Amino acid sequence: MKKRVSILLPAYNEEASFGLLERSMEKVLENNPNYEWEFLLVNDGSRDNTLQQMIRLHQMDPKHYSYVDLSRNYGKEVAMLAGFDFVTGDATIIMDSDMQHPIDVIPEMLKWWEAGYDDVYAQRKTSKETCFKRRSSQIYYRVLQSLTRIPIQKDTGDFRLLDRSCVEALRKMRESERNTKGMYSWIGFKKKGIWYEQKERMAGETKWSFWSLLNLAVNGIMSYTVAPLRLASILGFVVSLMAFLYLVYIIIKTIVIGEPVQGFPTIMITVLLLGGLILLSLGIIGEYLGKIFNETKGRPVYFINSYNGERKAENKE
Ligand code: UDP
Ligand code: MG
Repeated sequence: MKKRVSILLPAYNEEASFGLLERSMEKVLENNPNYEWEFLLVNDGSRDNTLQQMIRLHQMDPKHYSYVDLSRNYGKEVAMLAGFDFVTGDATIIMDSDMQHPIDVIPEMLKWWEAGYDDVYAQRKTSKETCFKRRSSQIYYRVLQSLTRIPIQKDTGDFRLLDRSCVEALRKMRESERNTKGMYSWIGFKKKGIWYEQKERMAGETKWSFWSLLNLAVNGIMSYTVAPLRLASILGFVVSLMAFLYLVYIIIKTIVIGEPVQGFPTIMITVLLLGGLILLSLGIIGEYLGKIFNETKGRPVYFINSYNGERKAENKE
């Protein structure tokens, strides 16, 4: 019996990419006839005709194309979770709907999967991103790795093949502020990196602004590790120690040579520095507290309008 492989394609306002997507999936079918294919499209609350395109593909070829229509735009991370809930393959390949991920890598992924690897992730060889984006992501990975003992994969995105076991593990992780990249590492399993050349976006435009990337970066650190909290404590400890030494110094100095008032700069500097550190520490604690707040509500991570047009489809839990 043929093994079943799903391609998971989250899409947000990607109507312009669907021509390319359709042609690419056709090629996948043609080039890999030894597998049974499923193309699962997840509409992440698009405001253009992405959903209509999905319905069209599903009606044209219901055997291969399925779609999940989310009730609003939840972001790619949640869209992928919805995908994990609905895929039916023995393995799942995650790809961007704008087809920046080349389909030529798929046979190699399948090869390593057959060889027993559970998570075959693709690493970007050259990146056409701006120098600033590349440098900052490099530094970011280095900082992140120094904060945690979970191994972090560099230059790796969501483009990867996951065995059913990985997909099932990821399904069980139902936090609503998701950092899927961290989760791939966290769940473990047998991993294998392969290389690919990222393509340029052919149609539509990128959904990531500077702020959303910064948000992703901060979330990334905070969902990996509580090291910033530790940093706040260490900083607090060091500063208190210095303050204590300074205090002893002042007392002795006052006793020995007396203290004419003066000292305005010293006081200002101390007050400002301490105030800043206290606010910083409070901020760090607050960020984590906010995360706890969001998770304790225990809401379902997403709602769907329909699965393959079935309005009654239950939300998977
Ligand atoms: N995406 C999504 N929901 C969002 C934003 C993006 O499902 O809120 C999808 C998008 O349709 C694409 C993938 O995530 O398939 C990657 O997005 P994009 O190409 O904009 O990111 P980039 O390649 O520029 O990093
Ligand atoms: Mg893209």
